Amino acid sequence: MYDVAIIGSGPAGLSAALTLKLHNKEIVWFGSKELSEKIEKSEKIANYPGVPMTSGKDLNAAFMKQAEDMGIEITDKTVTLISRNGDSYMVLANNEVHEAKTVLFAAGVVLAKGFEQEDEYVGRGVSYCATCDGMLYRNKRVVVVGENEEGEAEANFLADVCEKVSYLPLYQPALNLKETVEVLSGKPKAVIGEGSRVTGIEVEGETVECDGIFFAKNSTPPESLLFGLHTDGKNIVVDRSMATNLPGVFAAGDCTGAPFQIAKAVGEGLVAALSAAAYIDAKK
Ligand code: FAD
Repeated sequence: MYDVAIIGSGPAGLSAALTLKLHNKEIVWFGSKELSEKIEKSEKIANYPGVPMTSGKDLNAAFMKQAEDMGIEITDKTVTLISRNGDSYMVLANNEVHEAKTVLFAAGVVLAKGFEQEDEYVGRGVSYCATCDGMLYRNKRVVVVGENEEGEAEANFLADVCEKVSYLPLYQPALNLKETVEVLSGKPKAVIGEGSRVTGIEVEGETVECDGIFFAKNSTPPESLLFGLHTDGKNIVVDRSMATNLPGVFAAGDCTGAPFQIAKAVGEGLVAALSAAAYIDAKK
């Protein structure tokens, strides 16, 4: 069992990983090999101490080198569900389960606005995890909306369970789908429902009828990843030790709210890491 599962590979996650490594904690660090898209896309960064006017690309490269030099590996996987298991947490990423004593959320902020009525139908036909909810749609029709290739794995998994699976990629596709999966094109606009259940999804003004919609997003709302995590609607609520309302769960960086700045993310990552280490040591 790991000491800490870090979710997110931006500056907050990196800062936490470096600190936990120095404290000899066993970590599993989930995110992207490219670390943070946001940093990579920043044209100029002028306010990060110790690094005079730099580009996001150069700073991200320096982050990667620092992780590599410290022997910290990134698990290039997206976390789709976290569940409590007594005193520990089970973390599901790309259909593999990892167990950790604590969880450190550093997944950034969800910038993309959800689709119309998406929030209203979460748990009533809208899901973010095929492995978790797929069986509820046995012999039913589903649409998978994929912001990245991981959506293809979700669609392939559902193809063995559902009567019909349609896949709507929102990226330039290099599709690796089972033959039975129908490929859709266009921009989704709204989740459509009747009463308390999803009945379809609106794509380019047309309704695609279905019983369920699975969204494979680049970033999933934290409360959808971990049931019971307290947010104020947008941000994870933390105290000064970066502890959330759940025992052994800490959060850092943009996911805890503004200001959205690298220095703030790095500082919070450090505090959250020290708090997670203290929590683990106190349990011994
Ligand atoms: P992020 O950097 O967003 O990193 C989180 C990462 O976690 C994501 O990239 C993703 O790969 C990963 N992730 C998310 N969900 C999951 C999951 N479920 N499983 C696994 N991995 C996951 N700040 C400054 O201080 N100075 C600047 O000049 C500046 N310029 C900016 C310019 C632009 C264009 C933008 C967009 C931002 C800028 N910022 C700047 C803000 C800064 O980039 C953010 O505050 C900072 O990146 C936040 O770090 P973070 O670690 O909280 O999250």
